[in-house]
Amino acid sequence: MEKWYPFWRISVLSLVVSSCVYDSAVIPTDCTNIHWTYTMTAGGQDHWADLCTGYNACGGMSQSPVNITGAVAQPNLSKLTFGYSTTAAEIENNGHTIEFVCDPGNKLTIGGTQYELLQFHYHAQSEHQVDGKKSPLEVHFVHKATDSDFAVIGVLFEEGASNSLFNQYLSRFPAEEGTYTDHSEIELTELLPLNKSYYHYSGSLTTPPCSEVVHWYVLKNKITASASQLAQFQALLKNNYRNIQNLNGRKIYSFDE
Ligand SMILES: [Zn+2]
Repeated sequence: MEKWYPFWRISVLSLVVSSCVYDSAVIPTDCTNIHWTYTMTAGGQDHWADLCTGYNACGGMSQSPVNITGAVAQPNLSKLTFGYSTTAAEIENNGHTIEFVCDPGNKLTIGGTQYELLQFHYHAQSEHQVDGKKSPLEVHFVHKATDSDFAVIGVLFEEGASNSLFNQYLSRFPAEEGTYTDHSEIELTELLPLNKSYYHYSGSLTTPPCSEVVHWYVLKNKITASASQLAQFQALLKNNYRNIQNLNGRKIYSFDE
């Protein structure tokens, strides 16, 4: 049978093709169903800023994490005052990290500002580096004062004695996306070193939307977890760390308590 395509069909086809090309060049405004990953392929971390307009900040000039080096001593900075109590937690594997969503009432005070702890979560390997060195694991305690004022405490791990909180919870972390609710009380201070000396700089959330609203405090003193606990995190989290971002002239300050 003869195949015959009338001219109007070819015109419609070329219109469809050209409109597809046009659409792919337009960044969607709605980020709701955008899938992002840590890989370097499509949707990967070098492309976060281009996935939707709500993620534009990922291409900004004050992004996190950074390599902490050449920190300037700044004794006028404020001590971190933790008003943490015990909390029940919902442990969620959201496909990007393992997150503990905390009960309200855990406070952090820095200078005159009081922040509320929202959640804490993990990255393996660490996101921040100190003098170019990564740690096997980093926990981020995310606190909020206002929509434009977040304080995130980063605590780095090193291999050593086993962590008692992990002894209690690690085997119950959801390996796939999902939530595990635990009603027993967690002692949050087990995830903080005794001495709270810190490095400080201004940066961003390290995941989309990468909002540049974060006062970062990366503690100088590390805490320990055993080799097998660190290996378990590594297997669960599958390299969920963002690469080091440029400082673009930002200073890193150092405070010793
Ligand atoms: Zn984080």
